[in-house]
Amino acid sequence: MQETESATIKPCPRCGREVIASKSGNQQARPVRKSDKGMCLECTVTSIMLGLPSAGMFPKEAMLLPHIQDQFAAVLRAGDADPEAHAIDWQRVVDNWELPFPRKFAPAKT
Ligand SMILES: [Zn+2]
Repeated sequence: MQETESATIKPCPRCGREVIASKSGNQQARPVRKSDKGMCLECTVTSIMLGLPSAGMFPKEAMLLPHIQDQFAAVLRAGDADPEAHAIDWQRVVDNWELPFPRKFAPAKT
């Protein structure tokens, strides 16, 4: 691993989980890099979820269903977000679902 030099550990601005933030380079190794604003993977996932047109159409518990997770992984792939879908802790997504987003990290409505 040669990325430690340019990586710093910062708490996620939403849930406080420590995440590795690369200062430079290595962009391609970062999960969900397009949406990465310093939030952890699960909060980023939640942000994307809430920005979807179908947001609110299903209960948060649906995130634990394998076919929902598969669909979401497909959405991320289609958006070229290239997440490590298998690395998502869906239980954390659900547990933290109601956490407010700091204003600058609010889900983007398009
Ligand atoms: Zn987080």
